[in-house]
Parts: sequence; structure tokens; C-alpha cells
Amino acid sequence: MKRDFAVIGLGRFGGSVCRELSLEGMSVLAIDMNEAKINEFKNIATHAVIADATDEETLKELGINNIDHVIVGIGENIQASILTTVMLSDFGIKKITVKAQNDYHGRILKKIGAHQVVHPERDMGKRIAHSIISNNILDYLELSDEHRIIEVKTSQKMLGKTLEQLAIRAKYGCNVVAIKHGEEINVSPRAQLQLQANDVLIVIGSNEDLSKFEKHLVIDD
Ligand code: ADP
Repeated sequence: MKRDFAVIGLGRFGGSVCRELSLEGMSVLAIDMNEAKINEFKNIATHAVIADATDEETLKELGINNIDHVIVGIGENIQASILTTVMLSDFGIKKITVKAQNDYHGRILKKIGAHQVVHPERDMGKRIAHSIISNNILDYLELSDEHRIIEVKTSQKMLGKTLEQLAIRAKYGCNVVAIKHGEEINVSPRAQLQLQANDVLIVIGSNEDLSKFEKHLVIDD
């Protein structure tokens, strides 16, 4: 089913969201107050309109009320981001995703009705930091302030060992939820499964427990 999206603010983040959604064949209404931005996106988005998103009447006229999911990419102008989000929430939009500039901005956005708050620079910074710590850490997904999921490649310390021998849950308190072996994904790995080079473990746990796991088993000395 084709869903309708609107992207407000076509900076680096909003512009990239708009481009990808359009490439995936979604219907996208692109809004920015900057004419040059709208010219850049007029052949990419379904509709591209120059408008100030903090103007309630304009948003109504654009039919934003009928859109399933609105993404607000207004970055630096925090006041405009907050005003726009409040209006979208009052309109009863089903899904509102907003880019936050910092933690305080993020907290306010949640309080005023954003369903999803994203911190692209902060999250990418964390991802990069983890991949720098070890080449074996392939990806990183934050579930909450305290929990995350990581994807790690079999380290030298794990190679040839079974999950039972590694005792990841007993020793570090984290759970191996799946193991990727080439194209195959094993979602309920047995304790006797022996880890091979280039296998990828998907591990869930608290930040503290995963840090211990990374330090002792993932990072090769
Ligand atoms: P990024 O950091 O993702 O590049 P920016 O803050 O640089 O984000 O860009 C935000 C975009 O939002 C700009 O293109 C700007 O013209 C647009 N914008 C800012 N305020 C408004 C507003 N009130 N209405 C519509 N677009 C806006």
C-alpha cells in the first residue's frame, strides 16, 4: 500500500529522507521556506512547495492533515521545529518524526507530541566510535538509554568455540539472539553451535554488560 509522506525542512537530514522515500516510490510532499531548496527537489519529490511551516493556515492549505507520516528536518531553528511539531500534533497526524539538535530539544519534542525523535549526528557519532574501537563491531542500535543491540564479527577469541564454551549469558549477562552465517540467519542458535570466521553475532544487552562483553571477547588484543 502506498503511503503519503511529507518532509518539512530539506537540509542534509530532511533532504536525504526525502530523496530516499522518493527513490522507493513513495508519495512525498516536500516543504521548505528556501526557494533554492525547492528548486533542487522539485524533480525528486511528488510535490515541492515553498512555505513557512510555522504558519498554521499554510500547513492546512497544503493538506498536511491527510498525510500519514510527517518528518520534520528543520534543524538549527529550534523554535520553528518546536512550533511546527506542536501544530502537527494538534492536527492529529498519525506519525510525526522530528530531528533533534540536542538532548533538551529532543525531550521537548517528545513532550509536545513527536512520536519519534531522531538524533542523527549523535547516533552516527556513537556508531563510528564503536566501529573504531574494534573492526569486529559492525553495527550498533540503541534500544533505550540503557540497552542496545550490536552486530559483531567472530573475533579470534571466539573462533572455533561453541556458544556453551563462551558462556556469553552467564559471564557477561548478554544474549545472542541470532547468528548470521553467510546468507543464512539462525534465529535460535544452539549452545553447541561452533563459531566460524566471518560469522556475525547479534547480541542484545545493557550498555554496561555489552561493554564488558566487547572488552573481553570482541576486541582482539
Ligand atoms: P541539517 O542540519 O539537516 O542540514 P538545517 O538546519 O541546515 O538542517 O536545514 C533545515 C532546513 O529547514 C533548511 O533548508 C531551511 O530552509 C528549512 N527551514 C527552516 N525553518 C523553516 C520553516 N519555518 N519552514 C520551512 N522550512 C524551514
